[in-house]
Amino acid sequence: MITYYSPTHLQHDPNQLSQPAGASPAYSSEVPARAEIIRSALETNRLSAIIAPPDRGCEPLRAVHTHALLDLLEHGYDDLTALHRNAAARPLAAIPETYAVRTGDAPRSTSLWAKLGWHCYDTSAPLLAGSWDAIYWSAQCAVAAAAHVYDQGGVAYALCRPPGHHASADLYGGFCYVNNTALAAQWLAAQRMRVAVVDVDYHHGNGTQEIFYLRNDVLTLSLHVDPDVDYPYYWGYADETGQGYGAGYNVNLPLPKHTDEVDYLAALRQAVDRVRDYAPDVLIVAVGFDTYIDDPVGGFRLTTVTYPRIAEQLASLHKPTVIVQEGGYARHALAANALAFLAPFA
Ligand SMILES: [Zn+2]
Repeated sequence: MITYYSPTHLQHDPNQLSQPAGASPAYSSEVPARAEIIRSALETNRLSAIIAPPDRGCEPLRAVHTHALLDLLEHGYDDLTALHRNAAARPLAAIPETYAVRTGDAPRSTSLWAKLGWHCYDTSAPLLAGSWDAIYWSAQCAVAAAAHVYDQGGVAYALCRPPGHHASADLYGGFCYVNNTALAAQWLAAQRMRVAVVDVDYHHGNGTQEIFYLRNDVLTLSLHVDPDVDYPYYWGYADETGQGYGAGYNVNLPLPKHTDEVDYLAALRQAVDRVRDYAPDVLIVAVGFDTYIDDPVGGFRLTTVTYPRIAEQLASLHKPTVIVQEGGYARHALAANALAFLAPFA
């Protein structure tokens, strides 16, 4: 197994913002320590070589996301700074002041605030001074892992931060800006590979679902908490199964809050059976450790011993595999959980 990692993620630190009154505990959970804990655990245990991804430019990002979204992510913070050029201090972050109710055409206004409200759908994804570089290199990690598996087979782990699975082609939110998992899937699909994505984060991978919803060359499956009770609320129901060519190629397995290992592994078996029927050339696993019992954002009851069992089911497909890091916020358990999950692949 090889791991792609870039220290550039350290420049994206939402923790420097104070939490708004009444914000959910999730608000300040996506912090640089998350990726550093996992990197350090991999180094200490010599589980994997860790290398920096090559720079493949913006093309892989443009293959998934709209120009307007990428332009905002790249320039939004600088545009905000320009608006505040006469202020005593630089602004900390670009966060929408309004959220668009999307009814059709893109906004006519060229104001930064119109763009932020149009492309961002919640309060958890601030654009800071260093965010774009972190987003860009997180994306490069995922693409590098896809290219590695295409060239050499085996398993490649993209230690992405910020995460990506809540970002759709034209929207960002949920700690996510660019959909790293979708970038890897699209890069492989462009090489005419049949791709299956299994998302085992606690939350529904709504961005990944949306990006491939009309397609049958990328099968998307997600196990997650029932959106009736938890984020992202507007997506993730079992009857969202794809449309057009994609009909039948999106599988949602929503699970009740407090789901334990027995029920989780039973649902995973369903997902793995569906992947086996699909017979992909390559598997992408979007992994989040927020399924852990003590996760401050999650609400399932999985423990560290469950992660190798999840990994073994996925590895039993015997496919070249790209693993993309998504969520996981219980920092005290992150090293153990990541090692437990990755060891069967390594
Ligand atoms: Zn999550």
